[in-house]
Amino acid sequence: MGKPTGFLEYERHDRGYAPAADRVTHFHEFVIPLNEDELKIQGARCMDCGIPFCHQGCPVNNIIPDWNDLVYRGEWEEASRVLHSTNNFPEMTGRICPAPCQESCTLNITDEPVTIKTIECAIVDKAWEAGWIKPQIAPHKSGKSVAVVGSGPSGMAAAQQLARAGHRVVVYEKADRIGGLLRYGIPDFKLDKRLLDRRVSQMRAEGVEFHTNHKVGVTLPARQLMADFDAVVLAGGSEKPRDLPVPGRELKGVHFAMDFLTRNSKVVQGVPGAREQLISAADKHVLVIGGGDTGSDCIGTANRHGAASVTQIEIMPRPPEKEDKALTWPDWPNKLRTSTSQEEGVERMWSVATKRFLDDGNGNVKAACCVRVEWKKDEKGNWQMSEVEGSDFEIRTDLVTLAMGFVHPVHEGMLEELEVSLNGSGNVQAPTDGPGAYRTSIDGVFTAGDMRRGQSLVVWAIREGRQCAHAVDTYLMGVSDLAV
Ligand SMILES: Cc1cc2nc3c(=O)[nH]c(=O)nc-3n(C[C@H](O)[C@H](O)[C@H](O)COP(=O)(O)OP(=O)(O)OC[C@H]3O[C@@H](n4cnc5c(N)ncnc54)[C@H](O)[C@@H]3O)c2cc1C
Ligand code: SF4
Repeated sequence: MGKPTGFLEYERHDRGYAPAADRVTHFHEFVIPLNEDELKIQGARCMDCGIPFCHQGCPVNNIIPDWNDLVYRGEWEEASRVLHSTNNFPEMTGRICPAPCQESCTLNITDEPVTIKTIECAIVDKAWEAGWIKPQIAPHKSGKSVAVVGSGPSGMAAAQQLARAGHRVVVYEKADRIGGLLRYGIPDFKLDKRLLDRRVSQMRAEGVEFHTNHKVGVTLPARQLMADFDAVVLAGGSEKPRDLPVPGRELKGVHFAMDFLTRNSKVVQGVPGAREQLISAADKHVLVIGGGDTGSDCIGTANRHGAASVTQIEIMPRPPEKEDKALTWPDWPNKLRTSTSQEEGVERMWSVATKRFLDDGNGNVKAACCVRVEWKKDEKGNWQMSEVEGSDFEIRTDLVTLAMGFVHPVHEGMLEELEVSLNGSGNVQAPTDGPGAYRTSIDGVFTAGDMRRGQSLVVWAIREGRQCAHAVDTYLMGVSDLAV
């Protein structure tokens, strides 16, 4: 719990960032960490609040008050042990988690939550530096084998847990490198890929085998995995992007956000031949359609390319500056958030819909025709959108990125071959509780992460990977000692 009077004595102080003008000149991380003395003080602010709402607010149920206390006392190695007991990859969440834990911190009632994410990141960074994080090699082999399809955070968490339980684990990944969206989706300036490589090395030492360039259901039949392994985990993510089927969608310069981001990340990470495929935003008027994480990553990338201007439009209304704590706390509130990428330079607009794209006469996009929209509740209480008459306007653009989210996993290939049941949203059907937890409609085939829950967060993917591993271990052995 830190120091009983710490929250009264010490002010909240968080990590800083390099100035925007400096950081847009490169693709490296730009967070300025707190020093050890500052971190101890921030840990001391964790109060003895009785019910640690942060613990429930965190999807992997990190035991936050315990490690805050350990950091306050300078017991960093023990803090790392406690942190890793619930989270396989805290160096990822400590950098890119939106930190729902901090929204539910009791000190957030007065807008001064404990800097939980910063402390989490510092614990794991120090643990790697000190050499406390080592491969955890299973002392006994079970003789059972599991294939994991997909190497994003859910597949990696499941694979690591299952290898530690003594099973032979083989990860199949269609991309050329391991990591899923952590590798090519989330830009390097938010997450240094050396951290990913370091975890992959740890997992290799624990016995996990990785096979890249294997597209299950296309280059490798899914049924083959069912025949060769005792269980299969489908962790292929939610990769079908939401499209914008308006006139002009086919024009040159209109791209899915993931194409723009992936091609850029491949250049940054030195993938051979990637430079020829780059979609450059240099000197372009960039329009980002969609206001979420993906949209922000497009803004950060476009500014680093040297875009002439960046505009972001969102169909939903502008959220309130500040939430009504009495109504929302300790839950995640809807409020205006500004990402570091947005701080670097963008014009943001809300309640705007795109009606069509205009051609410059040579098949290239030159503008987007937009309209203002209004949102009102109908008699059943459902929000309905309508166009504001006479509010049409144009946005000049020569590069558009569609960042409107993902509808569901890709059905063609692996899922169609397996004929696995889908839910009403088009995700792979599997509950999270009870004896059927994480089991698909096919015996011995499990699923986790965005492929099961739809597009979500890294921390949820890690939780699902861990819980799915527990379910697989129980299926194979009748009982499981794996923590969830
Ligand atoms: C641009 C972007 C930015 C984001 N930023 C954040 C953020 O800042 N913070 C946050 O918490 N979340 C963020 N998210 C969400 C987060 O990345 C995902 O929720 C998370 O990665 C899901 O993990 P996953 O393991 O379920 O799937 P993924 O990470 O999508 O991994 C799935 C993997 O499966 C592979 N695969 C799919 N089909 C096959 C097949 N048939 N055979 C072999 N391999 C296959 C894919 O190539 C991929 O590598 C972001 C998402 C995007 C798109
Ligand atoms: S994983 Fe996310 S929610 Fe959990 S403690 Fe870390 S920052 Fe908070």
